[in-house]
Amino acid sequence: MRVAVVGGGIIGLAIGRELLLHGVDVTVYDPSPEGTDGAWHVAAGMLAPGGESAFEFPYLEPLLEASNELWPTYAERLGNVGYDDAGTLSVALTADDLAEARREWAHQKLTVLTGSQARDLEPALSPRVRAGAFAATERQVDPRKVVAALRRELAGRIVHRHVSDLSGIEGRVVVAAGCGTAALTGLPIRPVKGQVLRLRGEPGLLKHVIDGAADGRHVYLVPRADGEIVVGATQEERSDRAITAGGVHDLLRAALDLVPGLAEHEITEWTVGHRPGTPDNAPIIGALDDRVIVAAGHHRNGVLLAPITARLVAGLVLTGSADPLLEAFSPGRFGCA
Ligand SMILES: Cc1cc2nc3c(=O)[nH]c(=O)nc-3n(C[C@H](O)[C@H](O)[C@H](O)COP(=O)(O)OP(=O)(O)OC[C@H]3O[C@@H](n4cnc5c(N)ncnc54)[C@H](O)[C@@H]3O)c2cc1C
Repeated sequence: MRVAVVGGGIIGLAIGRELLLHGVDVTVYDPSPEGTDGAWHVAAGMLAPGGESAFEFPYLEPLLEASNELWPTYAERLGNVGYDDAGTLSVALTADDLAEARREWAHQKLTVLTGSQARDLEPALSPRVRAGAFAATERQVDPRKVVAALRRELAGRIVHRHVSDLSGIEGRVVVAAGCGTAALTGLPIRPVKGQVLRLRGEPGLLKHVIDGAADGRHVYLVPRADGEIVVGATQEERSDRAITAGGVHDLLRAALDLVPGLAEHEITEWTVGHRPGTPDNAPIIGALDDRVIVAAGHHRNGVLLAPITARLVAGLVLTGSADPLLEAFSPGRFGCA
């Protein structure tokens, strides 16, 4: 069987690899030689099934949880992709931050820690941090390493081409082009801009992912083993690529309020990416017609959802029938299938 995958971001590549493992003759189309146009290139790589998304969209939870369970084995098979299961420490600086965080922590059934208990876990936290909660099942990977590993497995099968019209491609097609999916399919997928900074300093300042609020400013700090710390992210209903003074200020202000020691770190990168959002901010995964399958709109969770999306789309391609897990995510819910 031959299948074309349009889009060589983390979702398209994960699907391509899964199909290849099942003996399918796969070609992945993406215009960028390194594929760095995708949201994955700026993404922090938090695997946080209990985070904000599950809180806002409860029907996403089973899909997020199912993919989270796949990640340990998935990462092991891909090799060194920066997989780290140290967990996430959520923190709140002020009484207002704590009042807001409590709702989410209660939803996740996390125990609330005092400021000093949080600092026992993460000594670099500011003495002003008022409270925290520890999510032991949250993990992280480095999306750039994941994509590099997937590209290696698909070597010789990636064609550098922007697909502007699906009629130019023969046979079965999986459209996994992130924000580019809207132009190809007419599906309601919009770009949600995120500005991200990367800092570098001595490794070991932070032991966990920190997800925090400081005076109403939200920030996450994702420490890599080599001393890099990803600081993210703004969430803006915009499609431009501007790095703004306000965006950078808010991220750094919150980061330094929570972890003052970051002041000595070097800023090594500032980047912008666009999360592919849908009207209900849940992904669209399913058949558009007999020939075309779509897997897009993963918004804030595309890294986390890559393994389960790949598995379910491969099942759909190979058997022609959709797993019950996909019911809530069909293109039909927007009147498009
Ligand atoms: C700031 C930020 C932080 C994030 N943090 C996290 C996180 O911590 N955890 C998490 O799980 N997720 C995170 N995400 C979300 C995640 O990055 C996305 O959900 C994910 O990248 C979506 O994958 P994708 O392959 O569908 O799209 P993308 O990664 O955007 O890739 C799309 C690909 O399709 C290609 N393409 C587009 N149009 C065409 C066309 N016409 N023809 C051929 N190719 C085309 C592009 O070149 C690109 O390579 C974050 C995103 C952002 C922006």
